[in-house]
Amino acid sequence: MIVKPRIKGFVCITSHPKGCYENVKRQVDYTLANSKSSSRLPKRVLVIGSSTGYGLSSRITAAFSGKADTLGVFFERPPKEDKPASAGFYNNYAFESISAELGTSVHKSVNGDAFSDSCKQEVVELAKSMGGKFDLIIYSLASPRRIDPLDGQIHKACLKPIGAIYKNKTLDTDRAELKDITIEPASSSEIDSTIKVMGGEDWALWTDLLLQENLLAKDCLNIAYSYIGPEVTQPIYRNGTIGRAKEHLEHTASALNTKMIQQCGGQAFVSVNKAVVTQASSAIPVVPLYVSLLFKVMRELNNHEGCIEQIVRMFNERLYGEEEKIPVDESGRIRLDDWEMSNEVQCEIINQWSKITSENLNSMTNFEEYQNEFLKLFGFGFDNVNYEEDVDLVSPF
Ligand code: NAD
Repeated sequence: MIVKPRIKGFVCITSHPKGCYENVKRQVDYTLANSKSSSRLPKRVLVIGSSTGYGLSSRITAAFSGKADTLGVFFERPPKEDKPASAGFYNNYAFESISAELGTSVHKSVNGDAFSDSCKQEVVELAKSMGGKFDLIIYSLASPRRIDPLDGQIHKACLKPIGAIYKNKTLDTDRAELKDITIEPASSSEIDSTIKVMGGEDWALWTDLLLQENLLAKDCLNIAYSYIGPEVTQPIYRNGTIGRAKEHLEHTASALNTKMIQQCGGQAFVSVNKAVVTQASSAIPVVPLYVSLLFKVMRELNNHEGCIEQIVRMFNERLYGEEEKIPVDESGRIRLDDWEMSNEVQCEIINQWSKITSENLNSMTNFEEYQNEFLKLFGFGFDNVNYEEDVDLVSPF
């Protein structure tokens, strides 16, 4: 079948297997070229949310920096003869086949709902069959909903301000036009539901189970990802419903840290990462416009990064760097958003923000780059992939 992008709002409902392979291959090549060796690099790694975005880059970095065995967990749609799989499914397929070609280490995957008890049990069994304890856990889920395993209740996350109406300009990415948005504040039950989905409760359940099953090695690191972001997105992000969930995640990190020190000698952290284009971030109002401007500002300062550059830096300079202790901020968080949040970058964002219009969008921001990055998430727009060629959707390579 010939596969073309079909974009609906902030998602692309098709994906190209060969382009997804290219996306993974480029990240592998970047890791091989830029990882620093260290005797402390992890040997067995569990990545929860491993098929796209930050989780995929984390798995690639673990596998190709220190040749770790990895176990990846994700929730992706498999292909049919006439319907492509979701991009994350093909990314995982590509990851497994590139790892097999390079003959590095052992990689197993679980495609299931990470919030469920059955998925957690499957991971425990698989981990035991892989023969040992994990020395790194990455928790990188981004999900719009969660079924609570205790009572079966469905919780939905929402992206809303708290306490006041939020008005700003946002980008209609389909029409390449700026428009005004007004978002009503969240109710208290919407705040609670968002915390249930994106807060730290599920991360704590995973950690408790892995400790109970004796699957965490001495010195194991347990990392969940968070975001803070700039002034322009504060009311909808950090001070909004998702921000409350991230605060909960950060409090959970400190409780899990205490528990891990006592029970296995390990540590738990939140890593605050920079804004990048992923399936999750493209769904957040205002963020695509902010990211388009951020790309331009950071490219001009020559410190632009995507997911793989951030995670390789996290391994090289934070988790397994030269410093004996992992460098953290005053709240105990790892900061990979340090370049994004620098005064130099943020002053420029504030200066430029009010001047952007639909007419000057392409000259004042890197919106074109944003669009290209968005397409690449789904395997489209790679110059060395022939998109006119028929591709087998079920066994593409
Ligand atoms: P993403 O959408 O690219 O990836 C989400 C992953 O979660 C995928 O592997 C998906 O399969 C998996 N997943 C979703 N629901 C699942 C379920 N029920 N069971 C199993 N797997 C499931 O997201 P992302 O942007 O990489 O976000 C990952 C983390 O990084 C989030 O905590 C996010 O807040 C954080 N973060 C993102 C950004 C950004 O700009 N994208 C910045 C800083 C921090």
